[in-house]
Amino acid sequence: MRTLLHVRPEWRPMQSAIKPGLIVVLFGALAALVFSPVRGQTPQNFDTVQVKVLPVQGNIYMLSGAGGNVTLQVGKEGVLIVDTEFAPLVPRIMAEIRKLSRGPIRFIINTHVHPDHVGGNEALARLIPEDPTAPLKIIAHENVLKRMSKPAGKETPPPEPGLPMDEYFTPFKDLRFNGEAIFIYHEPNSHTDGDSVILFRGSDVVSAGDVFTPGAYPFIDLERGGSVEGEIAALNHILALTVPGHTQDGGTLVIPGHGRICDEADVVEYRDMVVIIRDRIREMIKTGMSLEQVKEARPTRDYDTEYVSPNSFVTSDRLVESIYKSLTRK
Ligand SMILES: [Zn+2]
Repeated sequence: MRTLLHVRPEWRPMQSAIKPGLIVVLFGALAALVFSPVRGQTPQNFDTVQVKVLPVQGNIYMLSGAGGNVTLQVGKEGVLIVDTEFAPLVPRIMAEIRKLSRGPIRFIINTHVHPDHVGGNEALARLIPEDPTAPLKIIAHENVLKRMSKPAGKETPPPEPGLPMDEYFTPFKDLRFNGEAIFIYHEPNSHTDGDSVILFRGSDVVSAGDVFTPGAYPFIDLERGGSVEGEIAALNHILALTVPGHTQDGGTLVIPGHGRICDEADVVEYRDMVVIIRDRIREMIKTGMSLEQVKEARPTRDYDTEYVSPNSFVTSDRLVESIYKSLTRK
């Protein structure tokens, strides 16, 4: 467990042969980048995807496969799951959950609308037996429900299983489950317009969704309401929720949307990267540079080795374009 926390930026996947746990996490991150969340495409072949569970701390586990990371909270009252990857992986996800708990799955929380995070909702909901005394609740910010719902016709269609019908529209929502206080915070216009960051207060774990993707540039989804200012605000909010351990390592642990388990120092480094690149692009815009000129100036150059790989979904040009457009749109 500790080795996961001591991985630093100079560390590269190719050097990882000695740490099997890390390979799994990194494979998940790479696979997730290959399987684009935007195009909504699913991997051609899920057969070879392994679903792995890592204990985080307290009641919390992280499960990785081919989509976004899944967070599990497990206890006497049952199971709460954050994000659901892709439908074909749900039987494997369920098998891993059942190794941890025979209790009912009571809550699904979705961090945002991308298919690699909500894709398994319906398949999972169908696997959960209906129990009026302990109904399944699917929670997300209302913008997630809006984007997942079919356009309203003349007749209101019956709600489909897997939709987050327990949506919230306030700045945050709280609940208590398995003896633990859980806070779900809306992070407005960050990665999308419907992102939630979840704090498990007793376990001292934050599930960050795609606001935070160590080893990969943030995907600021302008089409779905994302913005660079919201992205930075969300990262700062995660930092407000985390408390470092004695040696600056450990303390509150952060489960990212993709990639390895992190701590506050990792989020600081990531926030600083986004702020520095944003500032550089903002200065270039002030001097009247066009998007093409900014791309040619390569304002991300010194970060590319850390955040870009051959399979990266967000290339340096794509990041520059999203920040440029975010800063210049009316
Ligand atoms: Zn996403």
